Amino acid sequence: MVPETARFILNRNSEPPHVLHREDCPTIQHQVRGDARIEQAGGVEVLETYEDGLELVGPGDGTHRSHYQASYVGIDELATVGRYRRCKACAPDVPEGPPPAQVSLKKAETLSASDLGRVTVDGEIERIKHAKAGTVVTLTTGKRLQLQEGETVAFPRKLRE
Ligand SMILES: [Zn+2]
Repeated sequence: MVPETARFILNRNSEPPHVLHREDCPTIQHQVRGDARIEQAGGVEVLETYEDGLELVGPGDGTHRSHYQASYVGIDELATVGRYRRCKACAPDVPEGPPPAQVSLKKAETLSASDLGRVTVDGEIERIKHAKAGTVVTLTTGKRLQLQEGETVAFPRKLRE
């Protein structure tokens, strides 16, 4: 498992859902280093001319100069950053967003009568039938979830504030 102190980088420059990277991901090192980010708009211009004929040339007006910035996210903060997707290059060892804190999972074989009437992310549970082949959960909507042993039913959970 990932240590509790692990932190990741959420690339907020990307289109949502933002991409989550490991800190050592090669595709995000410009943000880790804080590289200068210069967007040329106005070209260069002569800022100063010296007696010996040398010129000091700098970015012209309209040049936007900023630095890349890494947006660090601790593993305990993942639940609060909203939807994200995992970078394919570094494949951080975290669940694919949306974050797991939004649902609590219960294994199919542990469902019991006390779960009747509970509302899953798919709908309210009307019937639970355990059989050799697995568990069939029937929802009040008529939808049936066919679950193998170890598969889970997701119940919405309130997000932490
Ligand atoms: Zn990455």
